[in-house]
Amino acid sequence: MTTAQPRHLLDGSHRRMFIGGAWVEAVSGQTMETRNPANGVVIATVPRAGKKDIERAVAAARNAFDGPWSRFKPHERQKLLLRIAELFERHWEEICVSDTTDMGLPIARARGNANRVLGMLRYYAGMATALHGQTIDNSLPGDIVSYTRKEPIGVVGAIIPWNAPTAASVWKIGPALATGCTVVLKPSEDAPLTPLLIAELMAEAGVPDGVVNIVTGTGTEAGAPLAEHMGVDKIVFTGSTATGQSIVRASAGNLKRVSLELGGKSPVIVCTDADLERAVPVAAMSVFANSGQICIAGSRLFVARQIHDEFVARLAAYAAGLRIGNGIDPETEIGPLISPRQLQRVEGYLRAGSEEGARLVVGGTRLSQGALAAGNFVAPTVFAGVSDTMRIAREEIFGPVISALPFDTLDEVVRRANDTPYGLAAGVFTRDLSTAHQLSRRLQAGSVWVNTYHAIDPAVPFGGYKMSGYGREGGTDHLDEYLNTKGVFIRID
Ligand code: NAD
Repeated sequence: MTTAQPRHLLDGSHRRMFIGGAWVEAVSGQTMETRNPANGVVIATVPRAGKKDIERAVAAARNAFDGPWSRFKPHERQKLLLRIAELFERHWEEICVSDTTDMGLPIARARGNANRVLGMLRYYAGMATALHGQTIDNSLPGDIVSYTRKEPIGVVGAIIPWNAPTAASVWKIGPALATGCTVVLKPSEDAPLTPLLIAELMAEAGVPDGVVNIVTGTGTEAGAPLAEHMGVDKIVFTGSTATGQSIVRASAGNLKRVSLELGGKSPVIVCTDADLERAVPVAAMSVFANSGQICIAGSRLFVARQIHDEFVARLAAYAAGLRIGNGIDPETEIGPLISPRQLQRVEGYLRAGSEEGARLVVGGTRLSQGALAAGNFVAPTVFAGVSDTMRIAREEIFGPVISALPFDTLDEVVRRANDTPYGLAAGVFTRDLSTAHQLSRRLQAGSVWVNTYHAIDPAVPFGGYKMSGYGREGGTDHLDEYLNTKGVFIRID
């Protein structure tokens, strides 16, 4: 049974979470606030869930998995996903306003994500009827037929960060619906509202009770119990590398499957023959979009020495011209950071850059003139004269900060680009075909973009090398993460 709740007021009202098809409070009765990062205003309170709420949500997900949901045919799951896509399309503006108000993403950018998110839902809809095992000839004595079956893994626990609530929710829930799994999703405490709106749309589309559950709470109080729950068959996690490591430890109790999309310190390499007209804005926005709160941010910018100074000057001019403000203004290009805590973190890196001897070219400060004072705004920042050992060149900042580093040869830049524990993404700007191929082969990263950045498609796997995680989202690999493969042998002689 689905009880309605007022939709999307964003005026400080209370919203409930979604478990077993009902809008409910935390068992403890506790709540927490979520604020608009552009002005600090409380836009809603939500339940502050704990272990008991996780118990309840996992039980609801298990009941649905064992019950009516298991009888849904692939084409019925497909129809459901297509209906969800349709509802998302109809309510896209509402989704965008929710993301912008809850986590600061400029509305123009949020609107621009429509094709990607709707494309994901429609891709998973297609995949729902394309899952299959194989018939495999064996060498056993006797007449034995062998084949494999792909079966849904069961109850999936999904834990997501705040920097892309819509895409992250769809990336976790879409494959679950396609494969026949059920989900308990815990959004970030900093941006829980769009996942709740998504739950409403899913219920409206006809997703059966208990198939999708959204539990709002903090990492330690709700995330950790979900990660260690013995009734959860798989955890899909997007977030920081440190939290990813604690999720792996928590998963050991029942050896649940885990896939991890973690942090990054991605290199962007600009070669002497690059088209600078294209490379400057793309390299800039590879970090500055979403105020640098992007896992794939190309925050280590390696520029060929011959063009380094010109490139940095152009980049600085571009950064200085960006329009910064409340993301709800359609003219805004750069919104706020998510929280005062994140602002302090980024300011710490700005100080570290100068203290360690990097040269500040542009930005470098918090913005607090006029209306910006109440929000968490930082000027798009470029440091030059950065060395590979500085903290700003090694650690994920998750803020609008680019470190420019000159290089001389391709061998050298490959070695330096790969000299990081991370391996999420890399960018290359060159007009030379063989350089493009060589670098994309040699860079240790889950995604390599040449003469572009941020290109993510539902049909193409996305994920990390090294400490940026394991498992893939997008493509058929993604669906496999939600499936078990069973070998069946039938003696027929
Ligand atoms: P975070 O790791 O602090 O939090 C992510 C989620 O995990 C939140 O929902 C949080 O409540 C929960 N959590 C925290 N501690 C937990 C615990 N002990 N057990 C279970 N859950 C816990 O990350 P964040 O600060 O919200 O997001 C920023 C990080 O996410 C960055 O490192 C960024 O690179 C990464 N990220 C990666 C990708 C990717 O696809 N690789 C995408 C987006 C963000």
